[in-house]
Amino acid sequence: MSTLPAVAELAVEGATVGGGGAPSAVPSLLRPETYECANCGGRFEARNRPTPYCTKQCGAEAKTVRYARKARAEHGTDLPETVRTALHRQFVHALTECAWDKWSGEPEPGPVVPPEVEPLAEHLDAQIPDSDVFARRANGMKVRVLADSELRPCDVQEWDSVWRDWVNAHAR
Ligand SMILES: [Zn+2]
Repeated sequence: MSTLPAVAELAVEGATVGGGGAPSAVPSLLRPETYECANCGGRFEARNRPTPYCTKQCGAEAKTVRYARKARAEHGTDLPETVRTALHRQFVHALTECAWDKWSGEPEPGPVVPPEVEPLAEHLDAQIPDSDVFARRANGMKVRVLADSELRPCDVQEWDSVWRDWVNAHAR
């Protein structure tokens, strides 16, 4: 057990363990090239720290869906006024976070490769054209909120305590 940190340090610095043998699978796990977005299913370049979302917008969408699912579980369709107001605000925020936030000071995310199959394909309203990005996003969030069980991994209420494991399990 005590040798693990040393191996990790060597791998991070690009040193070869064992004097020039073939690289094992361990370094690639320590330094994945891409992560999967828990919200949209796209793949994006792995940066310094593990992160479950390709963009701030995907993070905002996931947070909104979790909040709405929790509110429905607690109040049904009869939401208290304060919860309803907060929910409206979160939905608007998630939908308008469309462009990358140029004012955050954070580096722009690398290109996101969309998933081969839209993860919500069988649930989305097929009448909405692909070009209507806002309507598709809103429809996606709505079906996730109203679904009996979670449709995306980040929709579970305990996400904050499980996302690291999920990100690592889906890193490549
Ligand atoms: Zn995403």
